[in-house]
Amino acid sequence: MLSVITAIKDIKQCIKTLKKTQRTIGFVPTMGALHEGHLSLVRQARKENDKVVVSIFVNPLQFGKNEDLKQYPRTLDNDCKLLSHEGVDVVFHPDASEMYQDGFCTSVILERLEDKLCGKLRPGHFRGVAVIVLKLFNLIKPDIAYFGQKDFQQTVVIKRMVSDLHIDVTVKILPTIRDEDGLALSSRNAYLSETEKKDALCLFNALRKAQSLVNTGVENTEEIVQEMEKIITSCQSATIDYISIVNPETLEAEQKVHSGNVVTLAIRIGKTRLIDNIILFFIMAVLFM
Ligand code: AMP
Repeated sequence: MLSVITAIKDIKQCIKTLKKTQRTIGFVPTMGALHEGHLSLVRQARKENDKVVVSIFVNPLQFGKNEDLKQYPRTLDNDCKLLSHEGVDVVFHPDASEMYQDGFCTSVILERLEDKLCGKLRPGHFRGVAVIVLKLFNLIKPDIAYFGQKDFQQTVVIKRMVSDLHIDVTVKILPTIRDEDGLALSSRNAYLSETEKKDALCLFNALRKAQSLVNTGVENTEEIVQEMEKIITSCQSATIDYISIVNPETLEAEQKVHSGNVVTLAIRIGKTRLIDNIILFFIMAVLFM
């Protein structure tokens, strides 16, 4: 039976009870409007833990002044149906005044990571992400927490915070789930018109181009980014926030591609900002003599 908890005192009590019986807890933090991407994390958590907790919280601290906090899709009833079907035990769904009580003023700053890539264009975003994830970790006390590769910079920030602050949780990153055309699933895809959805395929096409250039031996990242830009700019409704090939831990831009580098981009399709990334790899040529 799925229980939906909204109060901090109740989630604390619930977790205390679970911990008493030494149950392992898998945790999936989300902002709701759930799709197969979220559910892939939930299914993995279900496989690997005695109990699964999912949070649904549209975190105001990670939205900028002119961003889509108000419009962000909220579909709690449907989300709970999906989660119940997946055998989730607890949904934690607090409101903003419960999570950020009067006088709240603590921040979590990740120097050198928070102001790169998306952080450059969304100042304060990753402080908001880090502080809510830390608060949720403190409340839920998970053994394993699950995040999607889709939000690449977020995964880097969370892994760094967990390591720097010695937080006792295993962080697992799972692959990006895409639709049959390659568009990464995202709650924000709901903003796209049918035409924009087709235009949005330029993100994955550009990422695929990067990998195919690497496959043919291109190592210069500037050259790869230029080819990607051509694909994006050939799509009328697309504007580029950034395209970058980076070290997967420091997020520093690379000049020459190394295996394991991440090619990451943020593109606006009309008014909707979409992000995507892939990990670049080198095909090993095996010669049979
Ligand atoms: P959100 O609700 O957008 O905050 O996402 C909650 C979690 O689901 C984050 O760890 C995301 O990275 C992950 N997620 C979102 N979209 C996808 C996707 N298409 N594939 C895999 N994970 C995803």
